[in-house]
Amino acid sequence: MRHFTPPSKGKEGQLTHDEVVTVFHEFGHDLHHMLGLPNYGSSNWMRAEWDAIELPSQFMENWCWDKEMLKSLSSHIDTGEQIPDDLCDRLISSKNFFSAYDLLRQVELSLMDMELYHGAPRDIDEVVKAVRKEVRISPVYELDRFPNTFSHIFAGGYSAGYYSYKWAEVLSADAYEAFVEAGNIFDPVTGAKFMAEVLEASGKRPMKENFVAFRGRAPSVDSLLRHGGLL
Ligand SMILES: [Zn+2]
Repeated sequence: MRHFTPPSKGKEGQLTHDEVVTVFHEFGHDLHHMLGLPNYGSSNWMRAEWDAIELPSQFMENWCWDKEMLKSLSSHIDTGEQIPDDLCDRLISSKNFFSAYDLLRQVELSLMDMELYHGAPRDIDEVVKAVRKEVRISPVYELDRFPNTFSHIFAGGYSAGYYSYKWAEVLSADAYEAFVEAGNIFDPVTGAKFMAEVLEASGKRPMKENFVAFRGRAPSVDSLLRHGGLL
């Protein structure tokens, strides 16, 4: 259970940007729950594929990084003044800081996980070294034993599924991009289509097909790269 910053004495409650992102994220899960077809029971969203469960939630987060949205969401607590452009720009830059490095780190962990669960048993250190050689850009301490504490894939239920974090980001960024392409991040036609083809169809059709029905094509990684300031 996540607790939000309580109001200080005599003031309205104020959320940090991080907390706002959490509200949007969880609201995405709520929408998925509420709009999924009722004949699949109250837990219909659990029937969505593991690697797509975070699609609706991460999709919602995108609005928290749009300047127009940021300005409509927040104002100065005392003066009511709108958040200045410069502050929006700095906030967005802070999200993109080290984004390529972070992305590669997730790719490294995902590959490590896949390789360890794939094929014949091999020496863990050798697998890890091979993956790092392929994707890592900074050196690692010789005696590093990170896999020993990679509890996500050994005890957390993510075995061979760690990639789902990144994959859901690919899907959510590319889904959001449909609004950018429509020229309006509040475009009601695109919104209704997302609701019908992705949220409501969840559980009755594979998410891969939902995505294609919404976007008219397979997911592309370009949107995620653009969102991270990498394209
Ligand atoms: Zn979530």
